[in-house]
Amino acid sequence: MTPPDLDRTNALFLDLDGTLLEIAPTPESVVVPPNLPGLLASLNALLGGAVAIVSGRSIAVIDSLLAPYSASAAGEHGVALRYQDGRVEEMPKGLAVPDEWREVLRGATERWPGVLVEPKAHGVAVHYRLAPDRSTEVWRLVRGLVPQDHSRFHLIPAREAVEIGPRAASKGHAVERLMAQAPFRGRRPIFVGDDFTDEAGMEAARQFGGEGLRVAEVFGGDPAQVRAWLSRGVELLSNRAASAPPLGVPS
Ligand SMILES: [Mg+2]
Repeated sequence: MTPPDLDRTNALFLDLDGTLLEIAPTPESVVVPPNLPGLLASLNALLGGAVAIVSGRSIAVIDSLLAPYSASAAGEHGVALRYQDGRVEEMPKGLAVPDEWREVLRGATERWPGVLVEPKAHGVAVHYRLAPDRSTEVWRLVRGLVPQDHSRFHLIPAREAVEIGPRAASKGHAVERLMAQAPFRGRRPIFVGDDFTDEAGMEAARQFGGEGLRVAEVFGGDPAQVRAWLSRGVELLSNRAASAPPLGVPS
């Protein structure tokens, strides 16, 4: 499957890690290609502001990684949303993972070198990329805290990580809420992602007449190919903008 050519009616929802950025050994060690912020800014301008980063990371971390680019975004899998006008909507803090759970995770993982706990405002992620042989113990631990039928929290499997997050948040809800507002409303969304949590975002994009692109299937699992497709999109959209007939003149 080849990715579609972007046109000016599209909206873009882009996951960050594993989609725009290569996965790194730890969340802190990702490398942001120097041209990526400018590329996103160009796309966002050409699509009338209808570009959103939809990530498991917080909006603050998304901003710091992509600075000076800053636009619509969903953080922590949809726990926090920032609209084009800068307005931020966040779930109530009462929906955050209890402190006792954070303590349990920190305590247990201190005995497991290489297993990292990443605290988030509402959730907590446990990464075992550096200690893959601990995956069974990590999963047993988090499943012990959050049984399958837990009413408020769920486990979010990720690439060599698992996260506890509020059940009420999802990337699908994030897409739905952004699509309800300008400049996304009425556009044809394309969601690009590489992970389990992205599936809900892709499904939502399809509900709005758009599509979901899996990095593994469409881009050979390679974020560089996603970035190349976006660069090509900037060229296409710029050329079309330049060659578009003036308003009112039939083509
Ligand atoms: Mg990802």
